[in-house]
Amino acid sequence: MTKTADKSSSKRVLYAIVFVLVVICIITTVLLYNTSQLKYEAAETPPAEAIDIDEVGAAERLAGALRFKTVSHQDPEKFAPEEFLALHEYLERNFPQAHKILKKETVSDYSLVYKWEGSDESKKPIMLMGHQDVVPVIEGTEDEWTYPPFQGMVDEGYIWGRGALDNKSGVMGILEAVEMLAGEGFVPEQTVYITFGHDEEVSGKNGAIKMAELFESRGVEFEYVLDEGGFITLDMVSGVKRPVAFIGIAEKGYLTLELTVESEGGHSSIPPPSTAAGILSRAVVNLEENPFPPRLDGAANEMFQNVAPAMPFLNRMALANLWIARPFVINEITGNKYSNAMVRTTTAATMLKGSDKENVLPIVATAVVNFRILPGDTAEVVIREVERIIDDPRVKVSTLGKVSEPSPVSETDTPFYRALKKSILQASPENTPIVAPYLLMAATDSRHYKEVADNTYRFLGYTLPPGDMKGFHGTDERLAIDEYMRTVRTYYLLLKNLNEGS
Ligand SMILES: [Zn+2]
Repeated sequence: MTKTADKSSSKRVLYAIVFVLVVICIITTVLLYNTSQLKYEAAETPPAEAIDIDEVGAAERLAGALRFKTVSHQDPEKFAPEEFLALHEYLERNFPQAHKILKKETVSDYSLVYKWEGSDESKKPIMLMGHQDVVPVIEGTEDEWTYPPFQGMVDEGYIWGRGALDNKSGVMGILEAVEMLAGEGFVPEQTVYITFGHDEEVSGKNGAIKMAELFESRGVEFEYVLDEGGFITLDMVSGVKRPVAFIGIAEKGYLTLELTVESEGGHSSIPPPSTAAGILSRAVVNLEENPFPPRLDGAANEMFQNVAPAMPFLNRMALANLWIARPFVINEITGNKYSNAMVRTTTAATMLKGSDKENVLPIVATAVVNFRILPGDTAEVVIREVERIIDDPRVKVSTLGKVSEPSPVSETDTPFYRALKKSILQASPENTPIVAPYLLMAATDSRHYKEVADNTYRFLGYTLPPGDMKGFHGTDERLAIDEYMRTVRTYYLLLKNLNEGS
C-alpha cells in the first residue's frame, strides 16, 4: 500500500468518525430540545375567591342520602321504589333554593331531570350527571364494614356508607353547588341540565337511555356533558409524585364472544386425536398468544403527554421523542397490566365448559371471551380478527349479550375542558394536581347520550388515595370530608368559570 493511499484511508476514517459524532450531536440536541418542550404549563390559574361551604351541614346531608337503600339489583323484583321516592323528597327538602330555580321532571318514575334556564338562549345547553342507585352489599360481608353500609355515618373525618364514592357524592355535590349559587343569585349563561339516573349500575336502560330518548325527541342537544368516571389519584403513575386528576375523554367498548365446538362425543376410553375440548382450548390459547396490537394514540397518548412533564427525566425524554423511542415506550407500557389495557383492545378468556362427566367426551364445548375495545377498533373488526386468529372452521364464533362500541373521543381543546381544568386546579391550591385526559376502562351512563352530546367528560372532584379505592363496589366505602368539600368546590367553580368563558 502506498503512502498516499494510506493517508487517504485514514482521512476517510477520520471523516467517518466526525460524521458519526455530528449525527450523535444532532440527535442528542433534538432529543434534549424535544424533552425541554414537554413542560407542564403550571397554568397561571388565578386562585379562586374563598368559597363559603357549610361543611358540617354538607357532610351530614351526604351521610343522610346514604341511608336510602336505592340499590340496583340484577333481579328487577328486588327493586325498592319507595327508597327512590324518599330520596327525591329528601333532595327537595335539603336543597330548597335549588328546587326553587330548577325545573324538575321525572322520567320512568325514578330518574330525575332538572333544568336550570340560562341567560343566553343562543348557546347550547350543558349537562351535569350523577346516578342515584348504588350496587348491593355482597351478602355476608356486612359485618366487615366499620359502620353498617346504610347507616350513613360521619366519623373520623370521613363520610361512610354505600354510595359515598359511587355516586351519591356526585348527586349531592352538584346540588350543594347549585344550592349555594342559587342563594347568591347566580344565573348560568348556558342552560344547565342535571340528570340523575336510577339504574346506572344495571345498564341504565330505564334511566339514562330513556332520558336520552326524551332529549332527542325534544331536539335538545348538549354542547358538553360531565359525568362521573375520573378523579384525582395519588401514586397511580409510576415516578410521578404529584396528584394526577384524570378526566375521562373516552370509554372502551364492550364485547363478549362465545366460541363453540361441536363433536360426536362418546366414551373417553376410545377418543379421537382431538376432542371438542382440545380444539376449543387451542382456539383460546391462540387468542391469548395473539393479542390485539398496542396503539399509542388518542386518549392514551394524550394522557402520557400530559403526565410526562412530571415523570423522571428518562421517561420524559422517551415520551417527548416517540419518533425514535416508540418501541421502547410501548414495551414499557404493555409490561404493566393497567397501562397495557389503555393502549390495546384486551382479550380475556373468562368461562369454559366441556363435558359434564370425566369419562364422557364433550358433544359441545364452549368458551367465553370478553373484549374491551379500544376507540378506533369496532366490534366488527374484533370479530373478524378473532376468526382470522383462530383460523379453524370447527370453532364457531358468536356474540353473547349486549355489544357496546367504544365511545367517541372528546376534544380537550374546548372552553369546557379548560374551565374544568381551571376549576380542578383552583379547588386544590395546597397540592396542585396535574390534569390529564384519559381513557376509561369501565362504562358510565354518559355513553347513552352520545347521540345528543358533542363532547363528554368524566370527572368527580375528590382525591382518592389507593387504600380507599376498594370502596368502589366493595367494603367500607367512604369519602374523606375534605375531599367531599373539594368535590362541591369543583362543581361550584366549574359553573362560575363557564360563565367567564375560560
Ligand atoms: Zn357510578
